[in-house]
Amino acid sequence: MKLRIPFDEIKDAIEQASYEHHYLIDKKNHQIFFISELENDYEKKLEEVENDNFIAIEPRMPKDDFRTMESFVYKIQEDYFELTEKLHEALEKGKPFRNFKELINQNHEIREKWFAHRAKELVNEAMNWLCINNIELEDKSFMPKIVIKKLKADDVKLPEEFGDFGPIECMKCKNKEGLKTKYFELNVPAENMLIEKEIKRIMKETFEIESYGHIGGGEKEILTSSECPKCKSTDIFEDF
Ligand SMILES: [Zn+2]
Repeated sequence: MKLRIPFDEIKDAIEQASYEHHYLIDKKNHQIFFISELENDYEKKLEEVENDNFIAIEPRMPKDDFRTMESFVYKIQEDYFELTEKLHEALEKGKPFRNFKELINQNHEIREKWFAHRAKELVNEAMNWLCINNIELEDKSFMPKIVIKKLKADDVKLPEEFGDFGPIECMKCKNKEGLKTKYFELNVPAENMLIEKEIKRIMKETFEIESYGHIGGGEKEILTSSECPKCKSTDIFEDF
């Protein structure tokens, strides 16, 4: 389904949807429909939108924000050791939202990083939502241009911990000999389902590869695809 709704409007609706504030995608009129339970006739309005012309956006839960806080702590842990400890503690104790906010607000730089992280997570959440609901937007401004580059053997730089990583066994014929791996480099992290879907399309159309693995943690994300010389299967078990 293709909709003429700006991405930012969908993202904002996902952020603001709650049990009192209902946001629905009006598929026919290409707009977002809002019903507040503060309105007197909201029950009647809710009944009117209970049909296939509308997609309701699920209410945002505290656990959604909690997950974002956790992923932020994980992200900054290497650069801000002491603060990370405190943030961990704050998330485990009572009133995690308030305590987290207090700690974040003590440091301007961290505060900026937190807002940037939260904004990014919301973009990913909205892109996942579009993917799950099979919605394509005419507005493509939010979609990064994805470039996948095949690497020459000498140019493959795996993160240190992946030093011995490679193909072990063909899952189809159990062959272990002569398994060859191709490496590809991604220009953007595969951080949401829409980007993953686009990567899948490019891998298939450009390189005729349907099965591949991800290696993260390096400067750039790497895709790997191994093939069995005996049976030509690309269903290969890779390990250390
Ligand atoms: Zn095989």
